[in-house]
Amino acid sequence: MNGAVFGIFGASGCGRGIMPLARQQLIAEWDEAAQLVFVDDAPQADAINGHRILRYDEFLAIPADQRWMAVAIANSRVRETIAGRMAADGILSWSVRSGQGVIMDGVTLGEGALLSPFTCLTSNIRIGRHFHCNLYSYVEHDCVIGDFVTFAPGVQCNGNVWIGDHAYVGAGAIIRQGGGGRPLRIGAGAVIGMGAIVTRDVPAGATVVGNPARPMLERSTDVC
Ligand code: UDP
Repeated sequence: MNGAVFGIFGASGCGRGIMPLARQQLIAEWDEAAQLVFVDDAPQADAINGHRILRYDEFLAIPADQRWMAVAIANSRVRETIAGRMAADGILSWSVRSGQGVIMDGVTLGEGALLSPFTCLTSNIRIGRHFHCNLYSYVEHDCVIGDFVTFAPGVQCNGNVWIGDHAYVGAGAIIRQGGGGRPLRIGAGAVIGMGAIVTRDVPAGATVVGNPARPMLERSTDVC
């Protein structure tokens, strides 16, 4: 392959949702010669939705200064593993941001973010690496978000909330604004169930569901 090649790692559901945004971004920011491909360890086809799927080792064969990759995998632990592989192999990270999103003032966004359409990051926010902000989610003022955090669609994260690494916030969850001079804290690795209304701190590693959100006694895979 000659010229710049941009890869979307993960040729499954998440990747297929990000690819059209990446295409739009490349048209706006790069010349027409740039290529856009899926990258996957276990391709199920040669191409999908009009884009070739390269195996990771094929992508690695592209000259180092001509390849960029975004990781489109919802599972944050897998995402971290892939990011580690990329760093070890000298693959440059790429962020994909929908043109139909809003980023206000004083936002620090780590590498590898994926911002879906109709997302909004308001002012004075700090966000770590490989953040996934799905359709119609917002992050309000003064939030601090760690690395590898995932927002499913429709998350409403109000002001002055601190979220630890690898937290997962399910579809339609609402997180109350921090108040009284201290942030509302969601600990690392916490899982917020879909539709949960979070009114108080969530400990690291806890799964909370309902309104108001309370810890689940058993871990379930159906809450998100
Ligand atoms: N995958 C991979 N290497 C890994 C883990 C996952 O290539 O170490 C690929 C996997 O083959 C699949 C995609 O990533 O194509 C993940 O798809 P899945 O439907 O599990 O997740 P989603 O797209 O919903 O995040």
